[in-house]
Amino acid sequence: MATDTLTAPTIMGTASRPKVYKNFIDGEWVESSTGETFEDRNPADTRDVVAIFQKSGKADVDAAVDAAKRAFAKWRLVPAPRRAEMIYGAAELLIERKEEYARDMTREMGKVLKETRGDVQEAIDSAYYNAGEGRRMFGPTTPSELPNKFAMAVRTPIGVCGMITPWNFPMAIPSWKLLPALVCGNTCVIKPAQDTPLSTFNLVRSLADAGVPRGVINIVTGFGSAVGTPMTEHPDIRAISLTGSTEVGRIVGTSAAKSFKHCSLELGGKNPMIVLDDANLDLAIEGGLWGGFGTTGQRCTATSRIIVQKGVYGEFIERYVERAKRLKVGNGLDESTDMGPAINESQLNTDLKYVEIARSEGAKLKCGGNRLDKGDFQYGYFMEPTVFVDVDPKMRIAREEVFGPVVAIMACENLENAIEIANDIEYGLSSSLYTRDVNKAFSAIRDLEAGITYINAPTIGAEVHLPFGGVKATGNGHREGGIGAIDFYSEWKSVYVDYSDRLQKAQIDRPE
Ligand code: NAD
Repeated sequence: MATDTLTAPTIMGTASRPKVYKNFIDGEWVESSTGETFEDRNPADTRDVVAIFQKSGKADVDAAVDAAKRAFAKWRLVPAPRRAEMIYGAAELLIERKEEYARDMTREMGKVLKETRGDVQEAIDSAYYNAGEGRRMFGPTTPSELPNKFAMAVRTPIGVCGMITPWNFPMAIPSWKLLPALVCGNTCVIKPAQDTPLSTFNLVRSLADAGVPRGVINIVTGFGSAVGTPMTEHPDIRAISLTGSTEVGRIVGTSAAKSFKHCSLELGGKNPMIVLDDANLDLAIEGGLWGGFGTTGQRCTATSRIIVQKGVYGEFIERYVERAKRLKVGNGLDESTDMGPAINESQLNTDLKYVEIARSEGAKLKCGGNRLDKGDFQYGYFMEPTVFVDVDPKMRIAREEVFGPVVAIMACENLENAIEIANDIEYGLSSSLYTRDVNKAFSAIRDLEAGITYINAPTIGAEVHLPFGGVKATGNGHREGGIGAIDFYSEWKSVYVDYSDRLQKAQIDRPE
């Protein structure tokens, strides 16, 4: 099949003029109906305009959905193993382009290079996994209750799927949605977060270069409700998948329900890491730093609460804070940087607001808490790694998602008490326990209210072939990753073939 030129935007950038990206609809580059654009700026240095994107509206969504609907008529009939070969081809291209795309991503969203390389790698892993599904996508073949009758269930595609994604994993998260949707035979309209459209273009470029035909994937860029609402309301979009905040999840879920769309919501988290007296403290400290400050704390699975048993509470705090103070904050393009900036000014202000809230509620600030704005920092949205201790589980800093480099440490009496604290919030995404006691580990695996539990590892680090998602206000019961995504992007059709040559009545024709 032809690769419909996703190789370069029609208006190329120069050193002084950033590239202008148009929407990608039906294999063509199309200006938005509004005629407006917006800038994608580097949060580590806002003088750096990474690229310019279309500020789209409803008419652009309509055009993208029309294209996807037309493409669906053919794509659904392409054998799944052939669809999978294109996804596999995209994985190979992503490997070749990994460094370039990681650098683009660090420029557009700030996280350090080793993490953006990991983000691209996650898309590669996801591509290999979903390519494999092209020759699986198993369904049950099962005995019929009637003689000379054959029964099985097959997966069928749903149709046009709409995807709305956040900025913190700007290639990995689109890959979790697009790749299983494609292998199942669906066509897609994706709206990337306004802070990070470039990484979605890079992913889709690789898929198009690997042979995915025109109209099968369409990108419409723009702001939340201006593009998101027409997607959730469009009658021809049959499934919507959102990763984002719980607040936006409620809006999207409510809107999608009105037209009975399949709807997958992956939302916020306030993830606890429990450290018991018998833990390997070196390991727990290392894990807590990586989980708390990796991606500048801007992961849905970030280790934002650390619940430490009283016997090691003092020592843990002393050593953890000492290490947090030494983390090097800076531009993620510098290989020696440990922690990059906040994604934008609004997120930085939220982080600083929570420092004030925590202080006013009586939490003890042990390190950080300030914006960094001297020298080169003045051009970006930088903040010190921040640790609050002696946090009461009822404080807002212990219960609300900050989405920044702010860790709340609190004490617990024992495992039961720790689990009580861990579970006493509205979210339930990730969780972790550090212990050397296998009995305690398995009790925690059973009792922690979360979609993910790590033992002796922090709350981050999901792999693409396991279910990913959470309980309570973190989602609506679906899972991304692994077979859960295939389940979301396919419909079951049960098939009965009667070769008895007579009318047989289920439930009624029974042996005397
Ligand atoms: P957000 O909710 O502000 O935005 C997510 C996406 O929704 C963006 O593309 C945005 O433009 C769009 N949007 C905003 N308003 C909309 C509306 N009314 N209708 C339709 N779409 C709309 O989230 P964010 O700031 O981009 O990302 C951070 C949030 O995402 C955090 O809460 C984080 O926990 C969550 N997150 C969750 C997971 C997960 O898998 N559970 C993973 C990453 C991030």
